Amino acid sequence: MNYRHAFHAGNFADLVKHAGLLRLLSELTATGGPLTVIDTHAGRGLYDLGGAEAKRSGEAEAGALKLRTARDAPAEIVALRQAVADLNGGDAVRRYPGSPWLIAEALRPGDRYIACELRPEEHHALRTAMRGREAVRTLNADGYAAAVAECPAHGRVLVLIDPPFERADDYARIVETVAALRARNPTAQALVWLPIKDLETLDSFLRDLEDEVAAPMLVAEARVRPLSDPMKMNGCALVLVGGPDLAAPCAAICGWAAEALGAGGGSKVYALSPQ
Ligand code: SAM
Repeated sequence: MNYRHAFHAGNFADLVKHAGLLRLLSELTATGGPLTVIDTHAGRGLYDLGGAEAKRSGEAEAGALKLRTARDAPAEIVALRQAVADLNGGDAVRRYPGSPWLIAEALRPGDRYIACELRPEEHHALRTAMRGREAVRTLNADGYAAAVAECPAHGRVLVLIDPPFERADDYARIVETVAALRARNPTAQALVWLPIKDLETLDSFLRDLEDEVAAPMLVAEARVRPLSDPMKMNGCALVLVGGPDLAAPCAAICGWAAEALGAGGGSKVYALSPQ
């Protein structure tokens, strides 16, 4: 386990994921009964964009640090910009919120959040970032197994699945986990984040998901460059399983990311057809 999200926090892929997550949470918390959110791969919760890791990679400079000056951004990106400004007290962007921070801030009284992180030092930082929030539980555990074990059999559930993809079996474990979650609670919703390096890997994952999961599914792709070098992260995708129809907001987010943060990429949003 070498992956450290501090190198990548606030990059284009985080902006796409977090803008989509915020939009989904605003939909799910606008009405309806208590919501349980489970984050399979939570990370440390908050990131220092002035820290050594962020400075070394420079990825936030091409992402979060462009948020403040972005013109003609869609409402979903403006909402993320506001969340980042709130965290930083309106000043220069020094800290960037991870999924735990964004989720914890969105909870209503009666909602709850379970954040899983396997790496002990990341889990320690996560627990510190979430201190004082009674609706939040953090688990130093494998998020795939914990999500299924903790998923309530009834009621409203959203599971965010955002692995580092440093293991070859991450794709298969996502499919297994989504299928198990839906078997346990047929109304469970999931938001999955994926890198796009080459199309074959993404297509094969989507076909497996269609074969194993009988639920409405929406895919949103944002590519920041042509897919000519499969060793690079050329874009990213969100897959929304069983959620509300977010085709228009996802198209706005991915279109903005491809245009404002990329060169020669593009975006598309489409529905899957489960077997
Ligand atoms: N979701 C976070 C966010 O948006 O701020 C970023 C998560 S980062 C992409 C992936 C995290 O998963 C890393 O912190 C890594 O240590 C952790 N991790 C790796 N394998 C895991 C597993 N099997 N279960 C839980 N966490 C894991």
